[in-house]
Parts: sequence; C-alpha cells; structure tokens
Amino acid sequence: MDDAISAGQEIILKGIAAAPGIAFGPAYVYSKQVPVVREKSLTPDEVPVEIQRLRTANARADKELQKIHAFAEQKLGAQNAKIFEAQIMILADEILMGEIEKRITRELKNAEFIVADEISKYKRLMLAAPDEYMHERAHDVDDVMNRIIRNIQDQKLFSRLEGESIIISENLAPADTVIFSRNQILGYAMDLGGVTSHAAILSRSLKIPAVVGMRTATTTIRTGDSIAIDGYAGFLFVNPTEDTVRALVRKQQRFREFEERLVDIADLTADTQDRKHIELSANIEFVEEIAFARSQGTAGVGLFRTESQLIGRPDYPSEEEQYTAYKAVADGVFPHPVIFRTFDVGGDKLSPDSPHEANPFLGWRGIRVLLDRPELFLEQLRGILRASTQKNVRIMFPMVTTVQEIRQAKDLLLQAKKDLDSRGISYDKGIKIGVMIEVPAAAILAEQFAAEIDFLSIGTNDLIQYLLAVDRDNNAVASLYQQFNPAVLRTIKNVIDAGHKRGAWVGMCGEMAGDPLATVLLVGMGIDELSVAPIVLPEIKKVILSIRQKDAKRVAEKVLAMTHDQEIREYLSSVIRNKVPDIPLDLDQTTGP
Ligand code: PEP
Ligand code: MG
Repeated sequence: MDDAISAGQEIILKGIAAAPGIAFGPAYVYSKQVPVVREKSLTPDEVPVEIQRLRTANARADKELQKIHAFAEQKLGAQNAKIFEAQIMILADEILMGEIEKRITRELKNAEFIVADEISKYKRLMLAAPDEYMHERAHDVDDVMNRIIRNIQDQKLFSRLEGESIIISENLAPADTVIFSRNQILGYAMDLGGVTSHAAILSRSLKIPAVVGMRTATTTIRTGDSIAIDGYAGFLFVNPTEDTVRALVRKQQRFREFEERLVDIADLTADTQDRKHIELSANIEFVEEIAFARSQGTAGVGLFRTESQLIGRPDYPSEEEQYTAYKAVADGVFPHPVIFRTFDVGGDKLSPDSPHEANPFLGWRGIRVLLDRPELFLEQLRGILRASTQKNVRIMFPMVTTVQEIRQAKDLLLQAKKDLDSRGISYDKGIKIGVMIEVPAAAILAEQFAAEIDFLSIGTNDLIQYLLAVDRDNNAVASLYQQFNPAVLRTIKNVIDAGHKRGAWVGMCGEMAGDPLATVLLVGMGIDELSVAPIVLPEIKKVILSIRQKDAKRVAEKVLAMTHDQEIREYLSSVIRNKVPDIPLDLDQTTGP
C-alpha cells in the first residue's frame, strides 16, 4: 500500500466531472471478475455437449441482460435502456454464434476458448480505432463476452455489496452501473472514460455523482479507504482532511439548495423578468442523451454534433443509416426543434479519410471537406431532410469562412431537395438553415453571411482559439484561452448586431454559452439562443429568469468598455452574485472547452 495513504495523508486526483454531486464514503475497488479462459482440446464426440453448454450459457446471458434491460427501462426510461438492447443483439447474432459453433466443431476446442478468441477479434478492431467512443463500445463487447464465458463456467453474477460505498474501477460497463445502482452506491470514480461514456450518461440519469478519466484511481486506492468525490469539478480526495470535508459539505449544501429550487423552473420558458425570451437548448451528440436533456427542461437541441456517428467506422454512414439516426433524434426531441450540424470532421475531430496535415486546425475541416466531397454531403443532406417531415429540424454548416461556401452549400441543399422530389419523398420544404460563426473571417463577414441564411450560431470553442491564436487543447497556453478577452466580447457583440440587422436570429453553442458568468453579458448583448450542456441548463435558466434585459444591457455596455479578462470576470461575478445570490459559482474552473 502507498505510504502516504497508509499514513492517512490526503491525496487529490483530478479527472473529469461526469455526473454532478458530492459523495463521501469508503471505497470499494471493483476489479472486474474477468473469467480465466483455458484452451482445452475436445474429442469429436464431446462436441455436441460443448455446443449445448454454449447455447445454455448464451440463453442464461440473454436472461440476465433481459432482466437488466427491464430494470434499466423502469429506472432510466426506454432511451437509456437501449444500451442493453445492443448487447442483447450481439448475443442473438446468428452469424457470430454460428461461427463460434463451427469453430468448436472444426478446431475441436472448448467453447469458452473459441468465444474469447472470436469476440476478442472484434474488440481488438474497436480498440485499434483512434477514438474514445469506439473504446467505450469495445467495453460493451467485452461485457457480453465475459457474460457468456462466466455462464459457460457456471459462475455466479456479482450483485450485492455490504453497506454504502464509492465504486472505484478502471471502467464500468453500463450493466455494472445499473446492477450497482440496486446497492447503496454513493458515487463512481473511473480511471478511464469520458463524459460521453455510457456509464457517465447513466450515472447522470441515476443521479449518482461520478468522476471519470482519473487515470490512477484503481492503483492509488484500496477498498475501505476513505474517499470524497466532487462530481461538479472532477476531483477525487483520498483520506480527505477535515478542511476538505468541510469545504465539500458547504459546496454540496450550496449546490443542493440551489438545485432543489431549480426543479421548480424546469417547465418554465427562459424569459427575463422584462419578457425577453431566450431559446435555451441543449448540445448533444447521442440519441441516448435526449431523455436527460428533456428532464433538464430544454427547449430543444441547439447543436447535434452529427460527426459522433462516424466514431469507430472506417467509412461514412449511408443516407439510409443517417436518416434512421436523425429521425430517432427528431422524434425524441419533438415538438421542440433540433439543429443538425453537418459533419464537422478534421481539426481535432476524427474523419474516416483525413489526410495527415501539419496544421489540422487550419486544414481540411468542416464545410471544406463536405464541399470537396459533394456526394457525401448530399447523402447527409438527404438524410437530414428526410427526418424533417415534422418540421422541427434545422440544418447548420460548420467552419464556414466565405460567402461562396454558404452559396455552394445552399446549392447542394437545393439539389438534395430535388433528388428527394424525384423520388417522391417528403421533407420540410421551408427547412431553416444556419451557419456556425467560429472563424474570425466569418465574424467579420457576419452581416453578409446573415443575408444568406436564417440563423447564426457562435461557436466560441473555435472562435476563441482562432481569434486569440491559442490552441483550445494545449495546456501550456490554457491561461491565454480567455473567453472574456475584450477582443472576443467585441467580436460576439458585432456578430449579434450583424445578424439582427439582416433579420437572422443569433445563438451561441460554444461552451461559453453554458458558463453562468457569461449569461448576463450575452443576454445584454442581445443573444437570442443559448445552447448548452444539458447538465448546466437549469442553472443558466435560473440566471435568465433572475434578470432584466434592460439591466443586462447596461452590464454589457460597461463590460465592453473594459480592457482585460480578469477585470471583466471579477465584475461579472459581482453582478451574478447580486442577481442570483445563491448561485454556487466555481470560479476557479470556469472557461475553456
Ligand atoms: C465550437 O467551436 O464552439 C463548437 C460548438 O463546435 P465544436 O466544439 O464541436 O468544434
Ligand atoms: Mg467548432
């Protein structure tokens, strides 16, 4: 055991906040009971019995998953329970199971050995993919494999823990998260995983505080260690000191009281006290997030990052596949609107065919790729159009730099509509279109852009990096990535005014939209829509409900005359404390995408 831990010294680990809340309790370090698989040779007459063992195990695994699925459905709703349908489908995959049986017969090897070998092939392919999402799905496949093998070996399923605990694990499969939730689980901390891991999505739905991406939690912590996790800020404390506990209890209290009051506003529309309506919507990437976003009181989806569909694929999905995916999202969000942003590949994001570039952020990104690959663009546009029959779908183009790009994109949209007309397929003929403002050139030309489209959405994550020449992912220059830099604020104000001059509504979907410190300022500048991470949505709504646009305007005027980021932050925090005195601001960790 680590000397520092045995000495009771406090150790602080920093990861990613995945589900809000604070938890204290003893650690339970969960290492998956990975079944040991030994290779055994069979005689030909043993084969039928072996195949029967496999089939029985498969049926038992199916029964387990059906039970978990039903439990998840009741506890989390149909959308979130879909994760288990995917696992049940792997079990029911006749080609996969047929191949396993054939190999047992052909190679005369035991069932668990062939199952492990065959399913591991899939897993290796998934893990070789360069992105996080696919790695998450590889864990799901792993879960199914272990479930079959455990049943072949007739081992019992872990299901009960003694007393309350905080689960520390390398990673959790969705099924683990659900099974654990039947126990007295106070929180989760995982070495791996991102905020989009299904375990993170589920813990948010289950309202269990969680931190992910902790890297060394399982190697640092032992079962029984005293732990505190801060699911608001992404911290884990081993042997927290009295001061830490006191500070966390205070923070928990502030957030709890605040969150309790937020429940009452879930059904309210986001209007200022002097009736300026702000469209408050959610940024999402996966259909599974819709249920949570809706429960947070969203007015719709202001940014659906469609490139999430490319994760783990060697190619682009077909029009049909895309249509099915977009339709599920449009139906899930209905009657509210959803803005589908066309594939934003390149830069920091994956792309099935991205070339190696010296400066990817200045390279083949977003609309540039789509205009160079019109067939691919048309397929996506047709997929989106087909999902628009209920008239709640909008289209947005990313990384636009010139007016010509917008015109070319519009021409292709027209062609996609004609293609559908000739196939007799219906769609929303008046579908609204918009562009992201995330490049300085686009901000400067915002008025000309606005004349071409229905709405502008400011993508501050990229806009700030291009405007201030600061890489959004580079820690070394993180302190220069300033969302309240006067250059950024003036740019935002100019874009809003330019849009309004040409009758376009102007929203913001970068992370800045979800920072409560920025809300008064943005409302004062005249923003029409804020699209934010679902988790912060009630807080932003609370700020909007607590202010008058008239006052916010004065705040904006004052801020626009200021000269530096820190001064502006301090002023805005005094404003927000005055308007929403109980807001639990975490000032040391705002900013940055
Ligand atoms: C942005 O750049 O602000 C944005 C919302 O897009 P992304 O973070 O997907 O690049
Ligand atoms: Mg962007």
